[in-house]
Amino acid sequence: MADNKKVRHVLGISGGKDSAALAIYMKNNYPELDIEYYTADTGKELEETYQLIRNLEAYLGKKIIKLKAFDDSVETPFDHKMKTLGGFLPSTKNRWCTKTLKLDVFEEFVGNDQVISYVGIRGDEDREGYISDKSTIQSIYPFRQNIWSVDLVHKILNNAKINDRLAWAEENIESDKLLRYLEVLGRPIDSVLLTEKEKLNQLINLGIEEYNKLALHVANIEKYPIGNMQGEFPLVENKDILILEDIFALLENSGVGVPAYYKDIEFEVDGEKATYNRSRSGCYFCFFQQKIEWVWLLEQHPKLFAEAMEYERGDFSWSQEESLEQLSQPERVLEIKREYIKRQKRLQNQKKFKSSKLMDILMDNPEEEIGCASCFI
Ligand code: SF4
Repeated sequence: MADNKKVRHVLGISGGKDSAALAIYMKNNYPELDIEYYTADTGKELEETYQLIRNLEAYLGKKIIKLKAFDDSVETPFDHKMKTLGGFLPSTKNRWCTKTLKLDVFEEFVGNDQVISYVGIRGDEDREGYISDKSTIQSIYPFRQNIWSVDLVHKILNNAKINDRLAWAEENIESDKLLRYLEVLGRPIDSVLLTEKEKLNQLINLGIEEYNKLALHVANIEKYPIGNMQGEFPLVENKDILILEDIFALLENSGVGVPAYYKDIEFEVDGEKATYNRSRSGCYFCFFQQKIEWVWLLEQHPKLFAEAMEYERGDFSWSQEESLEQLSQPERVLEIKREYIKRQKRLQNQKKFKSSKLMDILMDNPEEEIGCASCFI
């Protein structure tokens, strides 16, 4: 059994739509949880992000705690760290920014406390969030049917623990489901015959309430923070699955609003009209941006684009293939826009996307690098 320590509930606001919607959802549905909302500021976010945070504070009736690396520096956290690295820009291969400016400050904020961290990965996404190395931090995903993190799932379905899981089922599962439950739980995971994902889905299909109780049982044995809540964790009753449309509805209906950078802006190329926006929160110069987002920055925030250009020196550029100076040439801008329109049409023709937001279409494409959960959720 876990020892009975106080558990902290935390929720990181990245400045993106999903974490903002999660804060609204948690306030609306679980007001009994005393959640600490925080944001880790690199000092390089868009003004739209800071506005979203102010809107959220008004809705939540609570301050969002601003965490800052190098709090005593006169420079922004990003610039301070970059100088110590001799001007070395972060990239998809070396993401020192996420580690130093987001993850490390978060881990310092929670210290060694027992923590449940709520993360806004949606029910229509197929990805996992950041899992801390610290056993005192547990991630929970309220928008998904499976609210538990992948590390706990591995433990629930561990072949070596099958006998314990069967004994638990004998005591806790109603007789009408017991036989089938024992059958599913008793089959070992095998890379060919029964994958972990398949076994998980079979269990969930037998009933989410039972699966959540089993997860709680294992979390308790394995001394996860949730074990300290003495069975009082209200999300075990949760059956909601929230997808993209639900996120927009939560933001609009609450009055918090969709982050302004996300709104469609019309442009025209060769007589053809299209829209662009920015798909995500995070630093205005983030290297995860797609070409069309750089064009958006160039045209909608020319001052910030110029500042992003200032960082590029010698071998250091935000994108491997071209410098921002090259990207900002009028012919190159037109080329990027044309390519973007072509791709938009191709993907929309596949008719598998419900969202009309172009950036959601692009981000739903497995070819796309969607970046880190810490910055963009
Ligand atoms: S938004 Fe991009 S540049 Fe900023 S910290 Fe995150 S990964 Fe790094």
